[in-house]
Amino acid sequence: MEQIPGLSSLASAYQGHMAEKRKFQAIKGTRDLLPPETELWNRVEQTAREVFGTFGFGEIRLPIIENIDLFARSIGSETDIVGKEMFSFEEYGFTALDTFRRNIITLNLVGPEPRFGFFNPQLHVDRFLEALSFSVQKGEIAKTPEVLSALENVTELRDHLTAELQKEKPDREEVRVYWSAIQQRAKNVHLGDQICLRPEATASVCRAYIQQNMQALAQPVKLYYMGPMFRRERPQKGRYRQFYQIGAEVLEAITPNTDATKTIGKDAAVDAEVIEMVMAYFARLGLEGVQLDINSIGHSAPDCRRGYVEKLKAALEKVKDKLGADSQRRIETNPLRVLDSKLESEQEIIAGLPRIGDHLCADCAKHYAEVKRQLELRGVAYRENWRLVRGLDYYMRTTFEITARGLGSQNAVCGGGRYDGLVELLGGAPTKGIGFAIGEDRVILSLQEARKEVASGEWLVASGKSACDVYVAWMGKTAEATAIRAARDLRAAGFRVELPPVEQKFGKALGQADKLGARYALILGEDEVASGEWTVKTLADGTQGKVRGEGLVAYLRRNLSEREVKQ
Ligand code: ATP
Ligand code: MG
Repeated sequence: MEQIPGLSSLASAYQGHMAEKRKFQAIKGTRDLLPPETELWNRVEQTAREVFGTFGFGEIRLPIIENIDLFARSIGSETDIVGKEMFSFEEYGFTALDTFRRNIITLNLVGPEPRFGFFNPQLHVDRFLEALSFSVQKGEIAKTPEVLSALENVTELRDHLTAELQKEKPDREEVRVYWSAIQQRAKNVHLGDQICLRPEATASVCRAYIQQNMQALAQPVKLYYMGPMFRRERPQKGRYRQFYQIGAEVLEAITPNTDATKTIGKDAAVDAEVIEMVMAYFARLGLEGVQLDINSIGHSAPDCRRGYVEKLKAALEKVKDKLGADSQRRIETNPLRVLDSKLESEQEIIAGLPRIGDHLCADCAKHYAEVKRQLELRGVAYRENWRLVRGLDYYMRTTFEITARGLGSQNAVCGGGRYDGLVELLGGAPTKGIGFAIGEDRVILSLQEARKEVASGEWLVASGKSACDVYVAWMGKTAEATAIRAARDLRAAGFRVELPPVEQKFGKALGQADKLGARYALILGEDEVASGEWTVKTLADGTQGKVRGEGLVAYLRRNLSEREVKQ
């Protein structure tokens, strides 16, 4: 078998490490979720499925990796998320080529003490060129003009470098220049697509809507999703690098030639229903201190948001000196985001800035008024917050945010809004959209904060679920077969059953049952098996009863439901 270069040294390094017993840690900003906490996660997710289902939403399961351009285009390359928080990598299967390229990139000829006397940098370049042209010939890499010119360029630079190195006294500066040009060129060769871990899912839902031709379905299309998202943020309470969102989107293809002013009422009702749905979900979960903030950010037109942003910018210029560095920068890049500022010293200044509500065009103002009326019809309490913005162009009209108790400064549990331009921006037909994303980690934190017992697992008992319903304590060979059968029948009936793999003295078994928080212990010794009268012990009060094997399931069901009635 051919040796894989580097592998044997890797193997011996590994053996060396074994002696140290390396302890692996979860990657920064990610965490393990364990039982019983995961029961709570499941409940939060299951409740979303139930509530969203009653509003006619179906689940969409999306890939976790996407082409990076999808987010660059939708979220925008100016934002923090795309600018610095994405986990990305180049996707291709040419490992040799990648190794050769990395050799070039990491070989430092431009440091203060270049070591080019000792080895032959052209060799790396030749290997890279060879592998690259081989891949192009085989069709593994598209023969694009960029790739061809890179091949030509790097070859040329390699020749210059060789010529220089062959001189009796090579000019160090010349060598450095050629080398960094080669490095740059090699780095920029497009070997495959840039892939990233998704930082959010709205763009993916829109991509899927277009790709799966969902405009051909009955409109609107109502979808929900749940799953992990990834952002390279500074980890802290309620902020992680892998976090979980539960979100929903309503997408509706715009019928050509419809009068946009005629659908304002309908759109507003859709917005209100989406908000009503999240609020109903949070109520069902028992989330405490839920506060809904709403705003309208108009639409991107000179007589609406764009005009407002101009006025805002002018007003900000006047007070620039009193603002912090972040806000000063945002005056140019994204003035709306200044309104987001939590900086104490800026609050008074912001309070005096022009408000978008006073600058909405007639249609947007009408839409906003209608959303509020619709929310009132649905009995959804809201607070208007003129400072609530989304700094992205495709967002329009309705924006909302929901906060909850017990989360400190990371208290936003849901953000949402209308984004009628997004599907078109991603290459689809004109389509309306509204949706939201819930931060599941924060919802869980808030629920745990409100009910401390959750962490200790008592929540399971309180909610009628225990980690173990029946502990089967058995002793003796004949009892073993009976115990196995009893466990099988109980599990088939839906009970959570613990069956010790080897026999235990009854005292020890009951101790174990207690530790697990079991509700009942089924005691099976030789006597019980012989007489067919099994002993069932209720662990909470220590009472015991005799049951015949075939009546066990019915007995436990009756008992459990009686307990529930009492509670
Ligand atoms: P924040 O202001 O808290 O940074 P955001 O505006 O970046 O939130 P969105 O992109 O609107 O958040 O995502 C919706 C929700 O997802 C947020 O309200 C929050 O609950 C949650 N969320 C966002 N980023 C994180 C994270 N890094 N860790 C945990 N939850 C997050
Ligand atoms: Mg954020």
